[in-house]
Amino acid sequence: MKLAILSRNPKLYSTRRIVEAAKERGHEVKIINVLKCYMNITSLKPTMKYQGESLEGFDAVIPRIGASVTFYGTAVLRQFEMMGVYPLNESVAITRSRDKLRSMQLLARKNIGLPVTGFARNPGDIEDLIQEVGGAPLVIKLLEGTQGIGVVLAETKKAAESVIQAFMGLSVNIMVQEYIKESSGTDIRCFVVNGKVVAAMKRKGPEGEFRSNLHRGGTASLAKINPQERATAIRAAKVMGLNVCGVDILRSNHGPLVMEVNSSPGLEGVETATGKDVAKLIIEYTEKQVKATAGKKSRTSTKGKG
Ligand code: ADP
Ligand code: MG
Repeated sequence: MKLAILSRNPKLYSTRRIVEAAKERGHEVKIINVLKCYMNITSLKPTMKYQGESLEGFDAVIPRIGASVTFYGTAVLRQFEMMGVYPLNESVAITRSRDKLRSMQLLARKNIGLPVTGFARNPGDIEDLIQEVGGAPLVIKLLEGTQGIGVVLAETKKAAESVIQAFMGLSVNIMVQEYIKESSGTDIRCFVVNGKVVAAMKRKGPEGEFRSNLHRGGTASLAKINPQERATAIRAAKVMGLNVCGVDILRSNHGPLVMEVNSSPGLEGVETATGKDVAKLIIEYTEKQVKATAGKKSRTSTKGKG
């Protein structure tokens, strides 16, 4: 296969591992910085160029689009889709998962366990909103935050009010969420590939920190998940339409609650904590999909000729 990996940093562990796994299985790989791509959007022959060179002949594209470049990154991915290249995760699914509120609404619609979550626009509604989600302590989140940045724990109602007011004053969109105290700074990251949990790790924040993100100094260890957690992760991935993702789950007193679904989950923590070769599983799945799509394409073309 000829693979395109959309990544802005070839030195990142995840990028390196995917390249390594692809080369080990005899594939040709090109790392592409989406910000250096430009495209010609025509219906007849959509094309893409990269530093003056035409990007052609790719069988699959593996998006590793950072949160800061979601808009341009998904546009580039969409162009690949228009060119008939198989996307490991579809652009529309990535866009969907990047908006925390939209994700929560989609998951709620399919009855997946979630922390009680509220959203408001009008400062006059803050007090009632706080009550709606069960009062303080509560968690306030920027809709497009990542790596734990933009997630605040407000211990008291007064603190919650002032933080919400401050965000509203800055015109940033936030959501307000019930604080799952019993998870005590830990969560479970289920790594899903092709509708299966292939690895699961427990993440724990440093002492005194309620956020378990590895980027915030959290540590990872192997997690043993129960059937309900496994089923929840698989369903959440399906609802989001992501073939490869990290489903983050809080262990609450009333079962697993999905906190978010990450469309470009990092490999370092999960491979180190579980000893699993996740990169290889990703490449193997891509191979299978490319084969299946090629089969479909040739069947359609034969039908056309007949
Ligand atoms: P980000 O996209 O920035 O990672 P998350 O929604 O995943 O944002 O929140 C970051 C971390 O904060 C989580 O990994 C979890 O440890 C903690 N956290 C988030 N929401 C809650 C909640 N409702 N109750 C308890 N802890 C939470
Ligand atoms: Mg997170």
